[in-house]
Amino acid sequence: MKSAVSQRAARVQPSPTLSITAKIKALQAEGRDILAFGAGEPDFDTPAHIKQAAKDALDQGFTKYTPSSGIEPLKKAVCEKLERENGLHYETKNIIVSVGGKHSLYNIFMAMIDPEDEVIIPSPYWVSYPEQVKLCDGVPVYVDMPESDDFKLKASSVEAALTSKTKALVLNSPSNPTGAVFDPEEIRKIAELAVKHDFWVISDEIYDRLTYGEKPLSIASLGPDIYERTLTVNGCSKSYSMTGWRIGYAAGPVEIVKAMGRLQDQSTSNPTSIAQKAAVAALTGPQDVVEEMRKAFQERRDVLVTGMNSLPGVRCPNPGGAFYVFPDVSGWYSGDIKGSDALAEVLLEKYGVGVTPGSGFGADNCIRMSYATSMEVIKGGLERLSRAANDLAK
Ligand code: PMP
Ligand code: GLU
Repeated sequence: MKSAVSQRAARVQPSPTLSITAKIKALQAEGRDILAFGAGEPDFDTPAHIKQAAKDALDQGFTKYTPSSGIEPLKKAVCEKLERENGLHYETKNIIVSVGGKHSLYNIFMAMIDPEDEVIIPSPYWVSYPEQVKLCDGVPVYVDMPESDDFKLKASSVEAALTSKTKALVLNSPSNPTGAVFDPEEIRKIAELAVKHDFWVISDEIYDRLTYGEKPLSIASLGPDIYERTLTVNGCSKSYSMTGWRIGYAAGPVEIVKAMGRLQDQSTSNPTSIAQKAAVAALTGPQDVVEEMRKAFQERRDVLVTGMNSLPGVRCPNPGGAFYVFPDVSGWYSGDIKGSDALAEVLLEKYGVGVTPGSGFGADNCIRMSYATSMEVIKGGLERLSRAANDLAK
C-alpha cells in the first residue's frame, strides 16, 4: 500500500507544549492531584466587555464570511495598537489577521521561505519555529542564548551564523520559553546587521504587554531600512487572555502581506467572524484589564523565582517578561533521570507537578514552568518541588 502520510507530514513533530498541557488536563480530569505549570496560557477569564462584543456580533447576525485577511475595523484597531504601544506606523493594507499568532507565523514562513533558505532561530526557542520552518523546506540555524547571558540574544551570535543562504531571523522578545527581554542596544545592532547583510526579521512580539521592567523594543521602529524588512507578529491570546478565540496578526510590507493573504484565501479563509469583533473590542476597549493581569503575573513571578532559587541543584534567572521561568535543573539529573523529559515525567507521576521539559525548546538542562496559574498552585508546587529537590539533588 502507498504510504498515506507525506514525507513532509511525517517529519513534523507534535507540539510538546500542547501535548503536556493536554496530558496534565487529562490526569486532572481523572481526579489526579496535579499542580500544573504547563500551559502557556493566562489562567484569567477573557474580560467581560470582550465577550460581550462577541455576543453582540452573534445577535447582529455577524456570522458570515468576512474578507479573508480580516475585517477593516480590526485592521484599523491593529494599526492603532502598533502606533500607540510599539511606535510603529502601518496602514491597514500592511496588516493581515490570522487564526492566531501561530498561523500568522506559519503564513510568513510559507510566503517567504524557499527550499534550503536558512532561518536563524535563537535558542532556547519556542517549539513551533523550527517545525514551521522545516514544513516550508527551510533550514533552521540555531544560535545560542546561554543562561550566563540571562538567555538574551547577542548581535555577535547572529553575525557569526550568517551565510549567503540566510533569509530571515526570528526574534522573540519577551521570549518563550525563557521570559528574557532582549537589550535595546543588541536589537539596534541586529537591525544594522539585517540591513547590511540583507536578511528579513520576523519579530514575534506576542508577549509585548507582559513585562516587569524595561519595555521591549520593536525592531521595526528603529528606522525605515529595518522597517521595510521586518514582519511584526502579535495577537490577542496572551495580552487579553483570549487563547481559544484564535486571533493573531502580522504587519509588514504590502508585497509579503498580500502573498500571505493569497495563502490564507486558499487555505483557511477568514478568522472566525465573531472572534474578530471580540478582538476589535479588546484592542480598542479599556486597557486596564491588561495591566491587572500584568501585575498579578509579576507577583507570581517574584514568588516563583525566589522559591526556585532556594532549591538545591536549581539555577533560575529572573525573567523580564512573558509568564514563564526556565530554571536549569540539571543538578537533579542522575541514574534514570538523564534529561528534562525523564525529569518532567518523574515530577508529574511522583510529585504531582506538571512542567514542560526543556528539550523541545532546545535546552535539555532546563524545564519550563508557566506561572499563568494561581498563587496557591505556585506555593503548593514549590513545596512539592522542595521534596523533589531533597530526593534528587546531588
Ligand atoms: N509565539 C509565541 C512565542 C507563543 O508563545 C505563542 C503561544 N502559543 C504564539 C506565538 C502563538 O499564540 P497564538 O497562536 O495563540 O496567537
Ligand atoms: N504558546 C503556548 C506555549 O508555549 C501555547 C501552546 C502552543 O501554542 O505551543 O505553551
